[in-house]
Amino acid sequence: MTPAIEWDSSVQFLKTVGPVRARALTRLGIETVGDLLGHYPRRYFDRTVTTPIGQARSGDEVTVLGEVRTCGERRTRRGGSLQTVAITDPTGVLFCVWFNQRYLLKQFRSGQQVMASGVITAHAGRRQMSHPDFEILDPRGDTLHTGRLVPVYGLTQGVGQHWLRKLVHDTIAMIQRKLPETLPDDLRTRHRLCGRPEALVGIHFPRDAAHHKEARRRLVFEELLLVQLAMALRRREHRQRAGIVLSAPGDLTSRLVADLPFTLTGAQRHVLVEILADLRSGQTMHRLLQGDVGSGKTIVALIATLFVIEQGYQAMIVAPTEVLAQQHGETLRQLAEPLGVTVETLTGGTRVAARREILAAAGRGEVDLLVGTHAVLEERVELPNLGLAVVDEQHRFGVIQRGRSARKSDGGDPLHVLVMSATPIPRSLALTLYGDLDLSTIEELPAGRLPVTTELVSDDREQQVYQKCLAFLERGQQGYVIYPVIEQTAGQDLKAATAEFQHLSSGPFAHHRVALLHGRLKAGEKSAIMAEFAAGTIDLLVATTVVEVGIDVPNANVMVIHHPERFGLAQLHQLRGRIGRGGARAICSLVHDRLLPGQTLDRLRFFASHSDGFALAEEDLRRRGPGDLWGVRQHGVPGFRLANPLRDSAITDLCAAEAERIMRDDPGLDSGPGKVLRAALAEIYGRIVPLASG
Ligand code: ADP
Ligand code: MG
Repeated sequence: MTPAIEWDSSVQFLKTVGPVRARALTRLGIETVGDLLGHYPRRYFDRTVTTPIGQARSGDEVTVLGEVRTCGERRTRRGGSLQTVAITDPTGVLFCVWFNQRYLLKQFRSGQQVMASGVITAHAGRRQMSHPDFEILDPRGDTLHTGRLVPVYGLTQGVGQHWLRKLVHDTIAMIQRKLPETLPDDLRTRHRLCGRPEALVGIHFPRDAAHHKEARRRLVFEELLLVQLAMALRRREHRQRAGIVLSAPGDLTSRLVADLPFTLTGAQRHVLVEILADLRSGQTMHRLLQGDVGSGKTIVALIATLFVIEQGYQAMIVAPTEVLAQQHGETLRQLAEPLGVTVETLTGGTRVAARREILAAAGRGEVDLLVGTHAVLEERVELPNLGLAVVDEQHRFGVIQRGRSARKSDGGDPLHVLVMSATPIPRSLALTLYGDLDLSTIEELPAGRLPVTTELVSDDREQQVYQKCLAFLERGQQGYVIYPVIEQTAGQDLKAATAEFQHLSSGPFAHHRVALLHGRLKAGEKSAIMAEFAAGTIDLLVATTVVEVGIDVPNANVMVIHHPERFGLAQLHQLRGRIGRGGARAICSLVHDRLLPGQTLDRLRFFASHSDGFALAEEDLRRRGPGDLWGVRQHGVPGFRLANPLRDSAITDLCAAEAERIMRDDPGLDSGPGKVLRAALAEIYGRIVPLASG
């Protein structure tokens, strides 16, 4: 007996699949029937219109409907075979031809009705179509591969387009009637969303454009609503967990603030008020601190940690790269040690003996503030009095790591968590991507910052760029020259940091102190170079994107970026954010290939004319989709299949309102409609989201 096919059945039990093809399908992320039906078409061929054969011209891509007249086969000179099927309609004859497809001919009989789609070519006065998509019509005239909007799927070796299309089609037909609805009826009625079976048919085999649009709207709505609900549930969980209760601040923070060489901006003060209120609320804090590059997040984080430390707790700050961890460690040590706070830094490069010592001291509660890379999180670092974890440059971590750092706070640990990101995102998108976190935004830059001047220069004018750069160095300022790769590789026409470093340090910058920094250097070398650069004993840093995040050397005011087209806008913004931090005039030159495509140049021009990270991030998302931000797509954790929260911003906003309403009226998802949603959430996010009851 074959088992009944359900949404979560293995595809292996579907007709025509079997173990071999099931294995091939896993390469597309398809293991269950649900995965298969969630493998949405990449695009569609419009084969709704048939063209009379007599009207089809060479070069046209058409669909024709005709009757099989003759079938034949002959050898080719090269020893292969050529199959020909002639079909006719009242206006003419079309020869369909294939090479080496002997088995094909067996399917054709004269008199059959056939639809064929492809490009027309003319050979010796005959109309021909080679390797057409064809379909022999059954008496009812239903077609799958022709004569309609035809879905085109992403494929992999061992999975053919026709076979997959038929599999999806037959599976929908089989399961359609027993599909549980995932959205409550009243919500569907209010937003005029079609039912789930209809949506699946409409996305895979739309009758027409309107049908497809309705189906997509419903599925996008479902995706976005469920993501937001999942986030809201996680946030509710956080909220219910009692946190360490902190009393009023002592004098550590005020002493620090008094000693700073600058005064905090109003925006910094504002977010600090929000953070301190969380810390004193008796509930655990899970807050995202957003602030554009250079807005001064580090000092905010330090003040938050001091607030916890002065009440006897430990804190840690986690950075995505070693270089950044080292820099934070150094900055924070200088600021905090005079106040009697013990700061230690722990990265992958920390020597074994030192590491052992630091870990032991931390375990005895003798380290107040531990700074490190995420290795710190992954290892079993014992901080007996840990009260606050700060995660810097969150967008580099992605959701998986976010889950991990949150897990630290599971198991009853009432840990407060502050994550910081320089990628500003619109509110509705923030709700979607970071909806489990409360949001604070630093909305102003410290006073007196001039926007960095950005210029696009084609690479034949490289020498002039270096002249400008030299002028900065002559004035005692510092700079960066950035390359996309460390070494040159065959077949890639990219300038690389290592080779160009030789060239620059012996050529144009021979009279200056130039150093090379990239990710493959040993940790100790990296931090030594960064320390020298920060101290001003290196003038020019030739580097890869290791300097992209967080590096803070206020005397650096010139940057040259080679092959800028290789970087995303948010990444370019991060890079450019390294200069102009001290209030002086700064220049960023993008040196590009003269022959870049227009679209790419447009993107770079957009970058050159915008200094607002908000606008740039939005543009980046529009162009590339949120996959990079979400950071999980490649790992197969549910991301977005159809939705793009930015392009679908109207639906995102509707869903935000709905999610809010649902969480207000039925926070435990216990009512009838709530149960429907809970089941849908469990199906998609079961492994990630705590679903309290049930
Ligand atoms: P980011 O938000 O990009 O992490 P940082 O925290 O590295 O920014 O701060 C950027 C620079 O601005 C640092 O050199 C820091 O000392 C300085 N800074 C921070 N706050 C202020 C302020 N209120 N006024 C002037 N400079 C500030
Ligand atoms: Mg920073």
